[in-house]
Amino acid sequence: MGGKRKSQLKTTSRAASSSKKPKARVPDLICPCCGESRAVSEKVAPLRIELLMRAHVPVWSNLELGWSVTAARNKWLSWACDACFKAGWALEAKPWLQSYGYNSVQFAYLDETKTCSDCGNEFVFAATEQAFWYETLGFLIYSKPKHCVQCRHERRAVKQANLEISEVLGSFEGSIPELLQLADLYEKMGNLPKALEFVRRAKNKSRDEIEKQVLLERIALFELDFISSKP
Ligand SMILES: [Zn+2]
Ligand SMILES: [Zn+2]
Repeated sequence: MGGKRKSQLKTTSRAASSSKKPKARVPDLICPCCGESRAVSEKVAPLRIELLMRAHVPVWSNLELGWSVTAARNKWLSWACDACFKAGWALEAKPWLQSYGYNSVQFAYLDETKTCSDCGNEFVFAATEQAFWYETLGFLIYSKPKHCVQCRHERRAVKQANLEISEVLGSFEGSIPELLQLADLYEKMGNLPKALEFVRRAKNKSRDEIEKQVLLERIALFELDFISSKP
């Protein structure tokens, strides 16, 4: 975001405002997103968002008015200026919907690039995803996704299949439908040897010639899969 810095503009706007207002004033804040100097007022972030926060969550009214400005100045607060919100460089947060801890509330979301701990690929934790993650799903503000979308989906599928497997095993009586259900679930998880094992058990148990034939074909397909997946 440093590339959006316009140092020339900054010096001229500062000079103009200081000549207009001779009385003592709160020093400007530097927006961490665009690097511009921003006047502190109740109409602009972060003070504007603090006032919304105080209106939504009564307990925040116990804090001294302007705590967000102090926090922003000390770089404790994640925020951005209204121009950045307007330009789409940052997304304005509704911090009263967040599950925050002490001093960890966020006034703005910015796209973050992260590395997937499964596949090692880079992925973007987009500002819009962050809003959904923290405000709709209510995840703690400290929590961040560790995996890219693809790995997340794979993990979810494996988790779901595992859950269903333990459900079947919980009341397992060794019937053919159960054995085939387990085979399907292991196949879904990508555990083909285990899936094959359950199809074989179902085939051995079957007393129906047609069913047996169908299962033998399925076993043959599995074996074909094994052969073609070998280098
Ligand atoms: Zn800005
Ligand atoms: Zn990944």
